[in-house]
Amino acid sequence: MSPADKQQRLAGFLAAHRDSGLPVTIQRRAVFEAIVERPDHPTAEQVYRAVRQDLPQISRMTVHRILGTFVSLGLVTKTCHPGSATRFDPKTHQHHHLVCLECGTIIDIEDSRLNSLPWPEVDPREFAIQDYHVHFHGRCARCRQKERESARPAAGPRGAGGPQDT
Ligand SMILES: [Zn+2]
Ligand SMILES: [Zn+2]
Repeated sequence: MSPADKQQRLAGFLAAHRDSGLPVTIQRRAVFEAIVERPDHPTAEQVYRAVRQDLPQISRMTVHRILGTFVSLGLVTKTCHPGSATRFDPKTHQHHHLVCLECGTIIDIEDSRLNSLPWPEVDPREFAIQDYHVHFHGRCARCRQKERESARPAAGPRGAGGPQDT
């Protein structure tokens, strides 16, 4: 993120607070600064650990509450997976994700073709669709590398495919 982008996000942060009449507290500012430049879609717990370095007094509860406020102000988005912790995303425009099924890494992907997919026809009394984004599931480079390393045959006289000792 360029310094100009960061400046712009901070201006958006201040404006959102002004418009909604919420005070810009030291805690809110620290949480926003901790998340705005992170590309890794941290959990609330990870944000808490980062903020605690500057504000050792802050509670986990406060960080959770502030993140919830940011979501309702549209300053960050949530990306959810059934059965795993909510991850927070400082990008609020429509974008998509590559999700590693092994380690949970989430990588942003921007592809305008994915922004105009047809929405399914659902009964609006049952469900009101607001938005969507696409998750592509797979395995990240680090996990694939680990797998290659563990699949490598152990070095020795009986290596795979080698001549048998007689
Ligand atoms: Zn992975
Ligand atoms: Zn994202």
